Amino acid sequence: MKTLELATSFSIDPDASWVREHNAEARDVLEAHKADKPIRVPVIGDDYPHMHGFYADEIDLDYREYYTNVELMLHVQLEAARRRAEMCIYDRPLGELPDRWDLVLDHHPIQTPGWLGCELLFRSDSVIAHRHLDLSKDECIAMEMPDARTGGHLKVIGEMIEEMTALCEGMTYLGRPVGPVWNGVTWHGLLNVALDIRGQELLSDMYEDPEFVDAFLLKVATWCDALEREWGVAENPGAFHFSDHGIEMLSPELYERFIVPIIHEMNKRRGAPPWPSLHHCGSGTHLFPIMQREFGLNDIGALTWPLVDIAKVRRDLGEHIWIYGSVADEIVKFGTPDTIYDAVRELMESGAKGSGRFALGVGDLLRGTPMENREAFYAAVKEFGRY
Ligand SMILES: [Zn+2]
Repeated sequence: MKTLELATSFSIDPDASWVREHNAEARDVLEAHKADKPIRVPVIGDDYPHMHGFYADEIDLDYREYYTNVELMLHVQLEAARRRAEMCIYDRPLGELPDRWDLVLDHHPIQTPGWLGCELLFRSDSVIAHRHLDLSKDECIAMEMPDARTGGHLKVIGEMIEEMTALCEGMTYLGRPVGPVWNGVTWHGLLNVALDIRGQELLSDMYEDPEFVDAFLLKVATWCDALEREWGVAENPGAFHFSDHGIEMLSPELYERFIVPIIHEMNKRRGAPPWPSLHHCGSGTHLFPIMQREFGLNDIGALTWPLVDIAKVRRDLGEHIWIYGSVADEIVKFGTPDTIYDAVRELMESGAKGSGRFALGVGDLLRGTPMENREAFYAAVKEFGRY
């Protein structure tokens, strides 16, 4: 088993002039964006504990060990968090310590499929995958909700959280406290979870047996609600979100017929108005006008260009929409600094950046992207993203 020696300082000099200049520009750009008086398209560098693919490359990490060895998971998250504050690839102030080092029991994205009993596939070079259960309609109707705390893979997650929490007890890293450990238990959309259980047949069911689909989707939504209440903020979970991996396969008619009523129903049960934010890394732009009308869609994250014509989304929905886009992984991962420059110029000239309310992200910092490509991407946005 791999163990990691934890660093005792940043590997960059936080007082170096290039760091001070970078930090000043990053702050200006972010503040201007937030104030809706943009000076340049920001490149957002989120700081989630599961963003460690670049670091896995640096240490040649075997993800089968990362996902099963809690001490290794803890060390990777701390070291990757430090490295994220050293890389000049986004508008994020560098060389600054957080108040505390947040951690997660990182079994993204299989917490819900694992709960339902889907087979999990651990792989050396990427996140955990899973297979659909592909149950028959009768089995779907008969299926009962696994225990929302200990059902299926959640038992493993619970035990690992206890172990990680014990490891961080009293621990500091670079002089700051380590923890708490977030459970990371979440779900990625109503249709997504329903497909995990019923499989692709669910799409034919929409034509052949709509009553079954209505009942089954409501049942799945009720389960997602219970899961979220069990692992989240139980008293007030807020709105029932409508971000959903898989919905791009639906026509506007099917989306309105099957999904919209259940989102409304769940929000009614929670006594919450719709939450106007959407995460959408797919190509389901044909559904956005419905979301705007039904849920007050106001901001969209993870929109991927050129899979999606972001300029058209802006034209369809209006200038007031906040868009957080990204450039397709294949372009940044497999391109050269020159092709990345060309792609970013094309995106910026397409109308996507509008007169503001547009930012780009660097995604989950997955494995296999050369650091010089990430640097070229940031440099290109600095050059072509000015207002
Ligand atoms: Zn996504």
